[in-house]
Order: sequence, then C-alpha cells, then structure tokens
Amino acid sequence: PISICWLRRDLRLDDSAALYYALKSGQPVLPLFIFDRAILDPLADRHDRRVSFIHQQLHQLQKQLTQMGSTLLVYYDEPIAVWKQVLQTFSVAAVYTNTDYETYAKQRDQRVQELLKEAGIQLHTYKDQAIFDTNEVLTGSKTPYSVFGAYQRKWKDTLTDFYVRSYPTESYFHHFHKRTAQPIPSLESMNFQEVKEDFPATQVPKEVLENYAKNRDKPALHGTTELSIHLRFGTISIRHLVQQAQAQGERFLTELIWRDFYFQILDHFPHVEHKPFRPAYEAIPWLNRSEDIERWQQGMTGYPLVDAGMRQLNQVGWMHNRARLNAASFCIKHLLIDWRIGEAYFAEKLRDYDLSANNGNWQWVAGSGNDASPFFRVFNPISQAKKFDPKEEYIRQWVPEYGTPDYPKPIIEHGFARQRAIDTYRKALRP
Ligand code: FAD
Repeated sequence: PISICWLRRDLRLDDSAALYYALKSGQPVLPLFIFDRAILDPLADRHDRRVSFIHQQLHQLQKQLTQMGSTLLVYYDEPIAVWKQVLQTFSVAAVYTNTDYETYAKQRDQRVQELLKEAGIQLHTYKDQAIFDTNEVLTGSKTPYSVFGAYQRKWKDTLTDFYVRSYPTESYFHHFHKRTAQPIPSLESMNFQEVKEDFPATQVPKEVLENYAKNRDKPALHGTTELSIHLRFGTISIRHLVQQAQAQGERFLTELIWRDFYFQILDHFPHVEHKPFRPAYEAIPWLNRSEDIERWQQGMTGYPLVDAGMRQLNQVGWMHNRARLNAASFCIKHLLIDWRIGEAYFAEKLRDYDLSANNGNWQWVAGSGNDASPFFRVFNPISQAKKFDPKEEYIRQWVPEYGTPDYPKPIIEHGFARQRAIDTYRKALRP
C-alpha cells in the first residue's frame, strides 16, 4: 500500500507539514493534485493567470519528482469522483493533507473524509498555510479575536521558534513511491488558454525587505515583496518567510499577521463570506448603478489613483495595496456600490485572490468588518495620490492619457460624494 499526500494550496516539496508526515510514515508516498471542476468550470475568463500558474508549478513539481523516480498524480474532475477512482486504482494506506479554512474546502474535505473512512482509510490534516491554527491564538476567555491589534499582540506573545521551524521533508525524499511519470492534463483539455507571463520570483531582493517600512506605501516603487501569489498557492512556506521577517522587518511581519488574522476570521465567522461581519451594515442602501460599476471596473472614474489601480489590476492581475485601498474605498463610499460587487471583481481578476484576505480587506474598507476604520473616514483619492505618488509616476505608468483631453472628467465630485456616503451610512446605521 501507498500513502497519498493531497496537495491543494501548498504546491511545493520543501517545508510542508502534510508531506513531511506522509513521507515519515514509512509508506511509499505519491503526491496528488486535483483540478477541481466545481471551481474551474464556472470561471468565465478562460484565460486565467492562476490556472496557468498552478499548471506551471505542477510541471515543476513533476520534474523534481521524476528525477527521484516518482511522479505526481494530477486529475481534472470533481474531488469525490477523483477519490473514488484513486481508491480503485491504488491500495491506499492513508491520506495526508494541509488544512484549508474556506467553507467550500471544509465541506469538500468533510465529504472526502467520509468516503475514505468507509474504505477504512484515515485522512490526516495538518496546519501549514498559517503560523497559528485558528484556535491557537484566542482571547483569555478562549474566544476568537475580532480586533486585529489585540490579536497581533497575542500572536507575537505566543510565537516561539517551534512555530517557525521548517519540516525537513528532504531527509525522507527516498520515500516517494517509485512510478513512471503520469501525464498532467493540458490547459486546453480543461478549456483554458495559457497566460504567457513571468510570475514574480520567490526570492525577494534583500533591499525590499530592508526598506519595506519606508517604501511599502509607494505604488510606483517595487517596495513590497509581490509574494502574494506564492503565499496563495503555497509555492513558498509561511514559516520560512516569518523567519526572514523576524530577521529583517517588524513592519513586514505585521502584514503576515494580518494574513493569519483573516484566516481565523473566515474560519470562526464563515458568514463573512456573504454578509457583513457586523450585521447592522446590511441596512446600507447601495446605489449599484451599472454605469458606475462599469467605469470603476475599467479604470475610467477620472480619479487617477483609482484608475491606475484598476488598470493595473485589469492588465497584470495584481494591484499595489495602497491602490487597492483607494480603489475599494472609491467603489464603496464615492459610488455607493455594494462592497460584495467590488469584492467579486477583485476575486475574478487578482492573481493572489484569497477569499479570506480579499473579503477581510473589503469589509475593512466598507467599515463592516473587523477593526474597520470608522465609516466617516472616507479616503480622499486626490490627497492620497499627492501623498503616495507625488511625482505621478504610478499614475502615468497605468493611465498614459492622464492630463490629456482623452482622460475622463471625474465621475463625481469628491466633496459631494464624501458627504453623501457619510449621510447614507449614518442614516442606515442609526439604532
Ligand atoms: P507585501 O506587502 O509584500 O506583504 C506580504 C504578504 O503579506 C502578502 O503577500 C500577503 O500574503 C500578506 N498581506 C499583506 N497585506 C495584507 C492584508 N492587508 N491582509 C492580509 N494579508 C496581507 N491580499 C491577498 O493576498 N489576496 C487578496 O485577495 C487581497 N485582496 C485585497 C483587497 C483589498 C480591497 C485590499 C485593500 C487588500 C487586499 N489584499 C489581498 C491585501 C494586500 O493588498 C496584498 O496582500 C498585497 O498587496 C500583496 O502584495 P505583496 O505580496 O507585495 O504584499
């Protein structure tokens, strides 16, 4: 019999908890990945960067595994159907996997676990994508934190070397099951087209981390790590990154703590996926004008920082955090578009789209989330641009017609929009 290590958002062979325990168990191990039809088939854009990225990554894993005389198993189907097939093909001793905190994933894993159990096979799950599991950083009364500041303090107090220690999978690589390489379904066979693009490197230049606190808010610079796609798909280990952050930057560490924070929010408060964290915010009467939605999505609002961000998103599938904040705020507050509409657009376009972080940040900007800034604080996209892009370099990079007659006039006047947002929120939230 063999053991199977089911890879999901942990597409690497180094420092992975599930893979480590699978290899160490002594049974020969085969790693498996499923292109889940339930997720992929409904995607409207068949030219999806994330699917290309995963595909690329799987080919790299396959290369590493074939060098060791082993193989990756890759299927394109619904997970239950795949597991039924796997159980018919192999004699499986146990299945190892890393925890996923999204509701869909939890339900999927539950169903697979039941199927395996009927066959007398255990599913072993491990914490891997976060430093702390969602029940490891709790308040004194053992409840989850809903405020970031307090969570962050407890997170730091709880952290010891133990939590960032790497899992030395390489010591057990000889335990991969020996088998001829199995084919990986082509993108075409799944009805996708390849996005030919260089994705960011996993190695971050030392200067980026050293100057992170100083440069992270300047969208024209390469001031952040751009590791988000790797963190999303587990092509780097969070433990490795926290070790680096401890050595090089407190500010950077804070961002990684936000990431853990939103995993635990989504896990403990799954209603946030569709509803405001604070129920009172359900009462806001959004305008949702289709012309506004369209102009916001296309980066044609006439507010250059917002437009630069949206065009960066549309063109490369990534947006600088400062621009994300402004673009989201403009969508919600200036145009009174339901945050869920903006959130869904980001979800479709972001190469680093992560339900927990995207939802948490959208709700933060909307004011309905955790630790959210008070609703009467409305980002001013003009002064934000002056402060964070003073030479208009970011703006000109993404909005080449800025300053010419071709650039649209502001879709709405800032002062008017600000007051309207405050009045609308105040009225809706009145007890
Ligand atoms: P860096 O500044 O180098 O940060 C390193 C890592 O820390 C990031 O890769 C990310 O994993 C984590 N991180 C940083 N900021 C945050 C944050 N505010 N919340 C949670 N984790 C954070 N991040 C996503 O990973 N996926 C999303 O879908 C996403 N949607 C967002 C939507 C909005 C409206 C906003 C305002 C922010 C969103 N973020 C999201 C957070 C943040 O903008 C990105 O993580 C960051 O811009 C990615 O670039 P980077 O890797 O260079 O970040």
